[in-house]
Amino acid sequence: MHFRKAGEIVSNLTKTIKLRIHVTPEQETLFRQMTEQYRQACNFVSKYIFDNQFDLAYANLNRILYSDLRGQFSLKSQLAQSSIKTTIARYKTVKQQLFQNPYKYKDEDGKWKYITKTLEWLWKPILFSRPQADLVRNRDYSFIDNGQILSINTLNRRIKCTFEGKHFAEYLNGFWSLGTAKLVELKGLWYLHIPVTKTVEDFQKENVRHVIGLDRGLRFLTVSYDEQGKTEFVSGKKIATKRHKFQEVRKQLQSKGTKSAKRRLKAFSGRENRWMSDVNHQISKTLVEKYGKDTLFVLEDLTGVSFEESNLSRTAKQNYDLRSWSFYQLEQFLTYKAHENRSEVLKVSAKYTSQRCPKCGTIHKENRDHHKHLYSCQCGYKSNDDRIGAMNIQLLGTMWISGDNHPRYERITTASE
Ligand SMILES: [Zn+2]
Repeated sequence: MHFRKAGEIVSNLTKTIKLRIHVTPEQETLFRQMTEQYRQACNFVSKYIFDNQFDLAYANLNRILYSDLRGQFSLKSQLAQSSIKTTIARYKTVKQQLFQNPYKYKDEDGKWKYITKTLEWLWKPILFSRPQADLVRNRDYSFIDNGQILSINTLNRRIKCTFEGKHFAEYLNGFWSLGTAKLVELKGLWYLHIPVTKTVEDFQKENVRHVIGLDRGLRFLTVSYDEQGKTEFVSGKKIATKRHKFQEVRKQLQSKGTKSAKRRLKAFSGRENRWMSDVNHQISKTLVEKYGKDTLFVLEDLTGVSFEESNLSRTAKQNYDLRSWSFYQLEQFLTYKAHENRSEVLKVSAKYTSQRCPKCGTIHKENRDHHKHLYSCQCGYKSNDDRIGAMNIQLLGTMWISGDNHPRYERITTASE
């Protein structure tokens, strides 16, 4: 959402913080009770909505259901209201989903017909199966003791807990606003999911200072090329070595196939993912800090790009999955950090970016020698082939800045070809 504030264009940056809460057995009982009562209350509201022509007007529902919610489910005022709001929100989401997936059938002439679905297509009320509670800040939950302690209002009384969260203090610095949080239990652990929002200045095309082309790969995790013609490589070697070690352990565990091996394998994948996340955090952080505000980062749009997947071995397949996941994650991290820093990430078509000559624009696949890692064009241009992609991607960004909304390369067929 973009809006104007004191002459600047700003927008809201939102994310969800997952705070793990430490509870005593006694506190856990109170949490269990509250989240279970709340779940049942939501189902009660849901049934009413289902039985009453899907009336989603909050004022109506509140007038009719409020005292039952307080009496039957022992919910406090705020929680009773939240259970109505949450149930309405769930119906609205489902309504949207139904609308987007029309019923499709072929008529007698074999033509496709579509019927828009509405909530009336539901044949039973939406079910809330997971115990949870939606807590409003400063009513149901608050941070006390300089943000060290979480105070939560349960059905009976207010309880105080400590929590895990190394960097959480920064969200209490006054720049972020904390929204309605969700209390949930996951595998025996309790979490509070808190949506946090802050206002950031928007990137403005007209004020751009840097345009950075970023190529993602295996030999080099990233190759960046900036408007001054500087190339920087983040080597993938260390990563590859470390990943290879991970792979060996994975293979061993897989071949064992025992129950305990499977468990260890699962814990192990978690470790590998966390480690890769750290790498991606570091790369994106370094990039954003290096170029500062008003920077446009240009990446290839890799959605829909696939390699010959069917020919891949199991290990190659896992590598492929990890790589696409990791590329996607880097993109997410970079986008988030860029938005925090008045910068932007642009995704461009990947077509011909590794084949095109950055000097004369000729697109010729054979110009690239994969073994020598050399790119050489008939026009005389020669370069390390790893930077070609980043250079071409950077140029697409420059084209976007100058007004081309969908910059891409096309092969120009000449008579001599
Ligand atoms: Zn050339």
